[in-house]
Amino acid sequence: MGCDGGTIPKRHELVKGPKKVEKVDKNAELIARWYYCTLSQEKLRKPVVACELGRLYNKDAVIEYLLDKSSDKPIVEAASHIRSIKDVKELNLSDNPAWKGDKGDTKGDRYDDLHYTRFICPVVGVEMNGRHKFCFLYSCGCVFSERALKEVKTDTCHKCGVPFQEDDIITLNGNKEEVEELWKRMEERKLKAKLAKVLKYFVFCRNF
Ligand SMILES: [Zn+2]
Repeated sequence: MGCDGGTIPKRHELVKGPKKVEKVDKNAELIARWYYCTLSQEKLRKPVVACELGRLYNKDAVIEYLLDKSSDKPIVEAASHIRSIKDVKELNLSDNPAWKGDKGDTKGDRYDDLHYTRFICPVVGVEMNGRHKFCFLYSCGCVFSERALKEVKTDTCHKCGVPFQEDDIITLNGNKEEVEELWKRMEERKLKAKLAKVLKYFVFCRNF
């Protein structure tokens, strides 16, 4: 008779309706990325480090994360590529002379952070608040706005004078395409390091 326990789902039950488009508060997202540690979600404070994908972290949060060997360690996907402290670079950030410290944030309102930009580009002076593109140099860790690197062509760091190549420029908090490109570069760097190790081993063996 059909009612033998198995019910056939109707078409409208199978076809899922359009996903609700969640309105992402762009402002909140921007603040989270540029003012807070990717791992601990705490406010960024020096020493700040960045990974090869251009994400920002507090150095102590990365160390804590790496030391935590417990089985219930939370898996943070954003940091799954960080296996050692060598996978991050300490940043040489330039302080904004106009920054008055967290004390000015009396209301404790997260959105107030936008008016207190702690770091700036040392070359053109724009604030590192997520409104301008910023990069760091993998070779030395110094941080600049993209504008500075484009406008003032150089192959040595504006701040510390260490030579760098195009590949050393890592965009901070880049878009999806930029992160994909950075991921590729990271893999290449790792492969090169591995090959160099193997080569070193062969040379070592040959000398015996
Ligand atoms: Zn530098």
